Amino acid sequence: MFLPDYVLECINALERSGFAAYAVGGCVRDACLGLTPQDYDLCTSALPEQTEAVFSDRRLILAGKKHGTVGVVTGAGVVEITTFRTEGDYADNRHPGWVKFVPDIESDLARRDFTVNAMAYSPYRGFADPFGGRADLESRTLRAVGCADARFREDSLRILRGLRFSVKYRLTVEDETLKAMFDLAHLMENLARERVFDELCKLLLLADARDLLRFVPILAAVIPELKPMIGFDQRSPYHAYDLFTHTAQVTGSLPAQLPLRWAGLLHDTGKIATFTIDENGRGHFYGHASVSAEIADRVLRRLKAPNQLREQVCFLIGKHMTPLAPDKKLLRRRIAQYGMENVLLLFQIQQSDFGGKGTHDSEENHWFQRIDTLLQAIQEEDSCLSLKDLAVNGRDLMALGYSGREIGEKLQQLLELVIDEAVPNAKDALLNAAKKESI
Ligand code: ATP
Ligand code: MG
Repeated sequence: MFLPDYVLECINALERSGFAAYAVGGCVRDACLGLTPQDYDLCTSALPEQTEAVFSDRRLILAGKKHGTVGVVTGAGVVEITTFRTEGDYADNRHPGWVKFVPDIESDLARRDFTVNAMAYSPYRGFADPFGGRADLESRTLRAVGCADARFREDSLRILRGLRFSVKYRLTVEDETLKAMFDLAHLMENLARERVFDELCKLLLLADARDLLRFVPILAAVIPELKPMIGFDQRSPYHAYDLFTHTAQVTGSLPAQLPLRWAGLLHDTGKIATFTIDENGRGHFYGHASVSAEIADRVLRRLKAPNQLREQVCFLIGKHMTPLAPDKKLLRRRIAQYGMENVLLLFQIQQSDFGGKGTHDSEENHWFQRIDTLLQAIQEEDSCLSLKDLAVNGRDLMALGYSGREIGEKLQQLLELVIDEAVPNAKDALLNAAKKESI
């Protein structure tokens, strides 16, 4: 296994002082798969103080020292070096009650979640792979280390981590492990919401429609609002799929950006509460966009999502039924109202939402192509679409005799005239327009 120089130097320093040191976990897994690891974690027989002494001439990060981790700052980033340890007593299904340092690597590997993550490599000592992680990688299997049921009871975040590894590396979850994941998903209620949110974000960026469908009962354990969507018949000629299948199609086909993926997942949650059937037996969901936005707000607050992401997701969901159209003036107005970024995201959602209906319609495709062409043209034009681009400002209007709230209102009116191409974005023309209307 290839190790970069800055990692080898750390291993060499520990070995020179008589300690065992290995690269461990994700970096070994990634290297076995022929991927370049994002970072390298080391584990060692040295106790934290001993590691500190070995690297006494380096800058160190000691925040994790109590749990055995010393961070060594190198030119190429921080290398985390953790003393071999075992853990136990997970009374709350989330953290260990105790951590004990041990002299051997096998015990350290035994505390890790999946066999593919429980491998270590040392240029001095070779591979340590007591649970068959390499064989599992070769057969593309995700398997818990030891008894799956016990391991997920210890720390139920491993369930979501397992989904992520399965999706990311295309690993089939071994039967016992899969069964324990489904059976114990309810234990995730005990986890810190931030940790769940973090894992969900990583998963959402990787998952396609099939992944979301396979794992929805587990997702619904942390987002119960998804549960009634599973198998829900929309009673609509526009929809070939049940509500969650549609949701999975939309989410999976969106570009891998968090606001889009979250908006995709939650955009139709409001359909359950707004469902009505007309006399022809056809389903309707009047006002579901704003109900979905309220539900998304609740879900994302509960998961402690950052405010900015939550607000953007709710905005996109709230507007997902307000169609963009191949009309340049309308698009320019929308850009002025929502901002260019949001219009482009909304356009993605409306396309995926349409694509996820499972009914083919070439006329609609043509419609989206025309919008796309117009949006590109508007972006290239560098035209005035917000107050800051307007060729006059508040001071110019004050000089014309405007004061107080009138200024803002007038500026907004002028901006709308420019957006509608009724007046060019030129100072004279705008001052003229402001003057004429105010007399
Ligand atoms: P990533 O590519 O996401 O960083 P990773 O495998 O490196 O994947 P980390 O969260 O960085 O994952 O953790 C490093 C290693 O620590 C894992 O490979 C695994 O061996 C172990 N580990 C991490 N979290 C847990 C956990 N909740 N339970 C058991 N072992 C864990
Ligand atoms: Mg890692």
